[in-house]
Amino acid sequence: MAEFDPTRRAIVAGAALTGAAAVTGSAFAQGDQPSNGDAPMTQKAADFPEPPYPQQEQPWPGLAQKMNPRPDHGEESYQGSGRLKGKRALITGGDSGIGRAAAIAFAKEGADVAICYLEQEEPDAQDVKRVVEDQGRTFAAFPGDLRDKDYTTSLPQRAVDEIGGLDILVNNAAYQQWVPGLEELSDEQFDQTMQTNLYAMFWLTKAALPHLNPGAAIINTSSEVAASPPKILIDYSMTKAAILAFTKTMAKQLGPRGIRVNAVAPGPIWTPLQVAGGQKPENLVQFGSSTPVGRAGQPVELAPLYVALADPAFSYSTGQVFGATGGDPQPGA
Ligand code: NAD
Ligand code: MG
Repeated sequence: MAEFDPTRRAIVAGAALTGAAAVTGSAFAQGDQPSNGDAPMTQKAADFPEPPYPQQEQPWPGLAQKMNPRPDHGEESYQGSGRLKGKRALITGGDSGIGRAAAIAFAKEGADVAICYLEQEEPDAQDVKRVVEDQGRTFAAFPGDLRDKDYTTSLPQRAVDEIGGLDILVNNAAYQQWVPGLEELSDEQFDQTMQTNLYAMFWLTKAALPHLNPGAAIINTSSEVAASPPKILIDYSMTKAAILAFTKTMAKQLGPRGIRVNAVAPGPIWTPLQVAGGQKPENLVQFGSSTPVGRAGQPVELAPLYVALADPAFSYSTGQVFGATGGDPQPGA
């Protein structure tokens, strides 16, 4: 794999992805692992790749496998401690990016995992399967299109059949394509964005409810754009704001049933969504550089949030929005 630049950080990121156990030069290199009780959940933030990133583009929906640098989803860097032992999770868009980071972290925390994704993304899904099964957890894969209501509403029952139940639902899949202006925003794109980001979440959550018991958790992926929409992301930003409203109404509906509903609002994260039409390619070179942290986030940096929101110990938090924005303002507090 060609590295994007020959600095120590790039080499470290590459090592994490090729399976080297030692995170060279980090605070917990080989032989220096902290005991499980105080293990950090991820490697040090300073070891993540910084801009400039190589300019790149992929046809939608894109593959994490083909990104340079390869995103860190926690394959090596996330360390679990049994927080979700025996739980069963269904994650949309669990093949890559933030959904994959949640899938891997959940498995490393002791959960069985089902993911859904588009058929074109099978190579990425196979990578997730390997990591989840290496943890000794059960894995189920449901390729299909979330715009198809019959497919989407079948998913909760299929998860129950294949992983034994449903305790955690992560509504995470999304469609994001930049357009220069409203004149260039077609009805077809508008429909696809609404169907993927909103209809699927509505259908899936409704179909999941009969399977969710007290202690269950629903986690919806929103975005910092819900409050600070970029002018080139009209339809997408509309949906990310709507996801916050859905999260808050569902929290009110489901609180009395012991089911928590929260949202995560990521900032700029290094995932296929961004290189497959989500951003202008020339903007990816400096992606995330305007945040206080000064770089794009890696998917694994979101994993501790998804784990916390899935963990029943977080029992008094519902209807909340949790940011992971590199310091950008977060929406919906
Ligand atoms: P990603 O491309 O890795 O994940 C998006 C997934 O959505 C795809 O893997 C695909 O499986 C799924 N998907 C899209 N259309 C689908 C369809 N019709 N049917 C089935 N699955 C479909 O990118 P990501 O950035 O990890 O995105 C995950 C979530 O994070 C999204 O909700 C996105 O809006 C949100 N988010 C991302 C960023 C970022 O900078 N990457 C920032 C804020 C929010
Ligand atoms: Mg994908």
